[in-house]
Amino acid sequence: MTLPLLPTSGVGSWPKKKRGQKGNLDAVSKKETAEFIKNQEQLGIDILVDGEFYRGDMATDYGRALALPIADWTRSYGNRFWKKPIVDRQLIAKEALQTEPYIYAQSLTTHPVKGMLTGPTTLANWSLHTYYRKREDRVFAYADVVNFEAKELEKAGAKYIQIDEPAIGEYHWEAELFNEGLRRAREGITAYIITHICYGDFKLVYPRLKNLSVDQIDIELANDLDRPEQSELITQMKKDPLTQYKDVAVGVIDIRPDVPVEDVDTVTRRIKTTIDILGPTPDLLQRIWIKPDCGFRTHKNPTTAYAKMKVMMDAVKKVREQYVL
Ligand SMILES: [Zn+2]
Repeated sequence: MTLPLLPTSGVGSWPKKKRGQKGNLDAVSKKETAEFIKNQEQLGIDILVDGEFYRGDMATDYGRALALPIADWTRSYGNRFWKKPIVDRQLIAKEALQTEPYIYAQSLTTHPVKGMLTGPTTLANWSLHTYYRKREDRVFAYADVVNFEAKELEKAGAKYIQIDEPAIGEYHWEAELFNEGLRRAREGITAYIITHICYGDFKLVYPRLKNLSVDQIDIELANDLDRPEQSELITQMKKDPLTQYKDVAVGVIDIRPDVPVEDVDTVTRRIKTTIDILGPTPDLLQRIWIKPDCGFRTHKNPTTAYAKMKVMMDAVKKVREQYVL
């Protein structure tokens, strides 16, 4: 499949209309997945996501698949609470968690659908540990689990696999560990590997991103693009565009539920600013992907999320017309 200029995609989640059983691809999740796949086709998105309607909490679902005991609610950060898995034994993956949702979503469309995984460092951070003493052992044990998942996804036909490592910006001093975790997670995999990172201080981690063992780095940037002069991250990007080393998927839609739907001109301007910073030459321009900042799971209403994606696609189409190569 040849991709157009500025290929488009989603990050993962979509608002749930009904709550299916958590952590389970049940009839409710299947119905919502099918509707969402149709929505994305209507919008003209290039690489689709499954909407994660089956997903409970990122680490908890893996804990269940690994037959680990699950702790009672613990506070993770701010006011977010998780039921963390307790790693009290050697991690051995026997059954893949993410293959079934991928196969189902892919069966509904001829567009490629991303296989979705959580990264080893994020899984290690969101678990409680009594078995592995050292921090790196915890990450590498999970890296083997993610590698097993990635291999199963590849066997099932996935050409694009996204390994979410949202916490890298928060734990920037551990960038080497992140990278080694990702390297192990993708070992032996030929599919195109994306990592989505979000929240945290990107400007601290930016110089390290070029070395990550992935094909594409997916970052949020919508707010920085509205005030490029004040953004330290954008100043760094201009000096050393990440597109010299990796494909970069740039968030041009603010996904916070209290932020109203942007107008097409605003998003068009954000995309053009992205091109100034990351795509100053035709070669580098080819490495830019466009997507929203993050998934839409915090939205209650799929109508607003759809309107936001529609604006993104309208803006992309406008810019594509101006950059016929
Ligand atoms: Zn995110």
